[in-house]
Amino acid sequence: MLDVPHAPRSQDLNGIQLAEWGAHDAERDFSTWPPALAAEVSRQFGHHPWRASCDDDRRGADHRRFAEELVRAIGEKERLTRHFLDRDDWDFLAQVFTEAHCAGHQCWHLTDPAHPRHDPAEGAQAGDPIGKVYEALDGALGRLLPALEEDALVLILAGHGMGASFGAQHLLDQVLLRLGVAAPPLASARPPSTKARVLGALRPLWRLLPASLRANLDQQRRRARRRLNDRRPAHHRSIDPARSQCFLVENTPAHGAIRVNLRGREPQGLIEPGADFERFCAMLERDLMDLTAVPSGRPLVKRVIRRDRTYPGPMSERLPDLFVEWNHEVGVTEIGSDKIGRIAGQNHHCRTGDHRPEGLFIALGPGLPAGEIGRAVSILDFAPTIARLLEVELPETEGHVIAEITEAVLSVSPPVGQET
Ligand SMILES: [Zn+2]
Ligand SMILES: [Zn+2]
Repeated sequence: MLDVPHAPRSQDLNGIQLAEWGAHDAERDFSTWPPALAAEVSRQFGHHPWRASCDDDRRGADHRRFAEELVRAIGEKERLTRHFLDRDDWDFLAQVFTEAHCAGHQCWHLTDPAHPRHDPAEGAQAGDPIGKVYEALDGALGRLLPALEEDALVLILAGHGMGASFGAQHLLDQVLLRLGVAAPPLASARPPSTKARVLGALRPLWRLLPASLRANLDQQRRRARRRLNDRRPAHHRSIDPARSQCFLVENTPAHGAIRVNLRGREPQGLIEPGADFERFCAMLERDLMDLTAVPSGRPLVKRVIRRDRTYPGPMSERLPDLFVEWNHEVGVTEIGSDKIGRIAGQNHHCRTGDHRPEGLFIALGPGLPAGEIGRAVSILDFAPTIARLLEVELPETEGHVIAEITEAVLSVSPPVGQET
């Protein structure tokens, strides 16, 4: 298992695992199973240029350098994959290339002329970073596939798609304040600590450091910031959760995340569970659905997703109660509705691209006919499909076996455990 994002290192795995050698938005330090493997990998392959976060405020030529680093990282991952591929006779091997994801988030405005921040001169300076990264990935795959055994089943999976990041996430705090469901902190609230202000003042200096140094120091910087500061991003701090009926939870810009200040659950809850909660959610959903982009008048919110109706499970109470799915077809600099009037504000977040629900998968291998599968499968279906092919029990899964793959493959080659 090589670099599967957000997958913590397993214990006692019958195999090897690299956790976050080069994963987008790594949450931990690089570690391996068995633990001693980490030193060997670092010695032979060094470090990925973007281990912690690739978020940064880049301009033209910075994007060109960013793409060059991602392309170099793809080359290292190819070398690393080949190294472990040749090392044993694996039943299963997974490698995740996260570089296309990084390029999509950071560089979308350079590729998309409809993006409000698109600037052809900057695009020319940057030199098509997304195209270069996709080509490098394609090249790496093209060289890795012939190295596999002839009867290997290959699954190539892009877990989700990418597109322009629009939406009004950057204005959602102002919307809640104008709707009267959130309240600002009292003027007497404690000002940021001296240390936190010093860290803020150092930000321009941080920008002057070379990108490679920034990448190496980024994890320590984030930790320091978390210790010193309020963990919430700046635009969440305009709301005082204790005085509000609901408040924002940090989430990726594809979906705004709102948690209701529920009595009995939150420390200073204001909304009663049951009928009050239901009424509040229904009202907020209507008011959010009324938001439109100015001047086009096009709806800004595709739908509001209720967590309790979407994500079952014992830990689901810890998630936000409502997710605001933005309409990513509309670039936004001003929004409005009858209730909130108008609110203007440019989105300066460095991520100009964001996720789309539709991904991509390609399967090739023995017994699989050429052609399209003709239906969409869920991301949840891959685990049970792989488990079926390996004859491994996978209890408590919500996904379904992709029969078009398993039936074709098992008809020509028996499951791993039954090989003679
Ligand atoms: Zn990234
Ligand atoms: Zn992402």
